[in-house]
Amino acid sequence: MLTPGTPAMLAAGFLLAGLIGLAAWRMGALTPGGALGAMLIGGLVFGLGGLTWAVTLVSFFVGGSLLSRLGGAQKAAILGDVEKAGPRDLVQTLANGGVAALMALAVGLVGRESPCYPCFTLAFLGSLAAASADTWATELGVLSKQQPRLITTGEETPRGFSGGVTRAGLLASLAGGLFIGLTAFITIQAASLLTTGQWFLQDWFLLIILPVAGFAGSIIDSILGATVQRLYYCERCNTFTESSTPPCRHPVRLVRGVSWVNNDAVNFIASCAGASMAILASLLL
Ligand SMILES: [Zn+2]
Repeated sequence: MLTPGTPAMLAAGFLLAGLIGLAAWRMGALTPGGALGAMLIGGLVFGLGGLTWAVTLVSFFVGGSLLSRLGGAQKAAILGDVEKAGPRDLVQTLANGGVAALMALAVGLVGRESPCYPCFTLAFLGSLAAASADTWATELGVLSKQQPRLITTGEETPRGFSGGVTRAGLLASLAGGLFIGLTAFITIQAASLLTTGQWFLQDWFLLIILPVAGFAGSIIDSILGATVQRLYYCERCNTFTESSTPPCRHPVRLVRGVSWVNNDAVNFIASCAGASMAILASLLL
């Protein structure tokens, strides 16, 4: 009925993803550019990846958006300086969902009968697990009372900044990966029961692989965040910021990292790491 890769399915995918993007923009979760990104990524994933892919992507997006609403004012005060607050723009959506969209394109090219299909699916899920782990760690970890420490040196670091970890944040990143694993596993069972009348329990390993992939992505994210990701200092306000043009508009000085490596670049690399980790872990299990 709903065959991925057909023009009708692609059209339906872009339409549905466009509507979700529009709703997210109206709710303040995405900028207009972010809504365009959501439509591009969602359209490719719905249209070429099929139902399980689509449900997993939507769950990732809805889960992250709901968590970002937790702790409103307190979180805005902490994340306000850090370039992560506010609705997500085009580059942010591509940094988180770009690998997922590329895997959908790859499946569209080789077809679902290809021996590469399971690998692309694992990479798709692993990249979302990493993006979800990072989102959950940021959104939940920042609410923890614990003072974050740099993952590299163990030094205390201000809350909300990249490279800092807390126990709560690390647990949240495992949970973010597990959430993607559970969503995928449950959707696969539902799809299998509907089409063949049988369970498809051999995919249980997703419940282990995806938390691992998400956690690994988060660790990579934190290591890059503590080393190469740019960090600026505003002397007049005596604050650190990850934006080269902070809201105060004062000139800022680079005190850590490389000027072109921002949070988006690090997120993209972390989602690639999650994708690779999912494939690696599946070879070991
Ligand atoms: Zn300033």
